[in-house]
Amino acid sequence: MHKPDRIRSLYIDFDAFFANVEKQIDPAIRDYPVGVTALDSEFSALITCCYMAKAAGIKRGMRVRDAREICPDLIIRVARPDVYVDIHNRIVAEVNNHVPVRKVWSIDEVECALIGHECEGAEQLAREIRAGLAANIGAHITPSIGLGPNQFLAKVAAEMQKPAGLVALHPDALPGPLLGLDLDDLPGISGNMKHRLNAAGVQDMRGLWNTSPKQARAIWGNVEGERLWAQLHGYAVARPETKRRMFGHSRVLSGDFRHPDKAIDCLQLLTIKAAYRLRREDYNAGALSISLRLADRQRWSGEARFAHCRDDLTFIRHMKTLYHKGLRETGHPALLKGVHVMLHNIARPEEINRTLFDANTVNPCEAQWDRLMGVMDGLNERHGKAVLRVGGNVTVPGGYAGAKIAFGRVPEKEDFF
Ligand SMILES: [Mg+2]
Repeated sequence: MHKPDRIRSLYIDFDAFFANVEKQIDPAIRDYPVGVTALDSEFSALITCCYMAKAAGIKRGMRVRDAREICPDLIIRVARPDVYVDIHNRIVAEVNNHVPVRKVWSIDEVECALIGHECEGAEQLAREIRAGLAANIGAHITPSIGLGPNQFLAKVAAEMQKPAGLVALHPDALPGPLLGLDLDDLPGISGNMKHRLNAAGVQDMRGLWNTSPKQARAIWGNVEGERLWAQLHGYAVARPETKRRMFGHSRVLSGDFRHPDKAIDCLQLLTIKAAYRLRREDYNAGALSISLRLADRQRWSGEARFAHCRDDLTFIRHMKTLYHKGLRETGHPALLKGVHVMLHNIARPEEINRTLFDANTVNPCEAQWDRLMGVMDGLNERHGKAVLRVGGNVTVPGGYAGAKIAFGRVPEKEDFF
């Protein structure tokens, strides 16, 4: 790990991006509070609103009808994803003219790693980027720019003075400027985590700063605690590459299970097992693929992509849709030889991009589902077998669905139910 000694990361987070793009494009609405929805409906929720609307008490996630009650002159625009993506691409190109973009984190957040003289001249560089964006993209699409010794602190800095902010968190000045923040202002600290921190005696930022890496690990219950500690203290933490991780299971079918109406039960159980392993390792998946082996050496594969999640129900739903598509496209085979399911496009909960349309597309039940899954996993672990399972209990040929020793993975006790 790098000892933090200088500014090494520049993080750009655009203010109320969709709303400000709308204001940039249409001068007639610039002096009004503007909210953006995904659907043209009074019952649709706002996915973002401009700072003028925020000042009037409008919040993201409010229904249009409720927002109009609070703010009668609110102007509503229906989101235009193609337009926003186009502007995003132009923004990345503009930033690249000043310093190479290291990573695009979302449609309105990009990060640049700084090297050599860029580290000392970071604030000047930030001002040049801002001027370039204003001149070439539009003065109404304002960025907040954060500078820090690592990406984590640069992102925190970008949030500290919105809108149109520029904040530098120099490693020598820490923790001073951080002490005014709430614990859940930090990326990776959700409301839930905040409660756990409070329960462990960490009430505020100073308390968090003063924990040891070991304590942080104990509070989190995994290496994420140490990782957050290191990032907060300015260390550049190399994240293990998670993009290529996958959670999958396959099964050779025998007997009755070769019939398509039984094979799907097997596939469902394999899906549940894979989802369980995914949750245990604290990941979410954004894609599921299945493959079907047919009697005549044929193979069919299909993939579904969706907003990152970790609940059995979503995975089963996509698995079933793919399965029926597979049967259709292979001419409804009488028997199957094997099935395989894979969860991929893996991400940590805090890595998931929740910017684009999430207020509308994220199922409001998602948090409850997440909790339910946690309760279910906990019960099953305590009893050492599957006492609770989504979609009923099925016994599959070959016994335990999760216990097949895959290359590079030794099964754990919990895989055997
Ligand atoms: Mg933003």
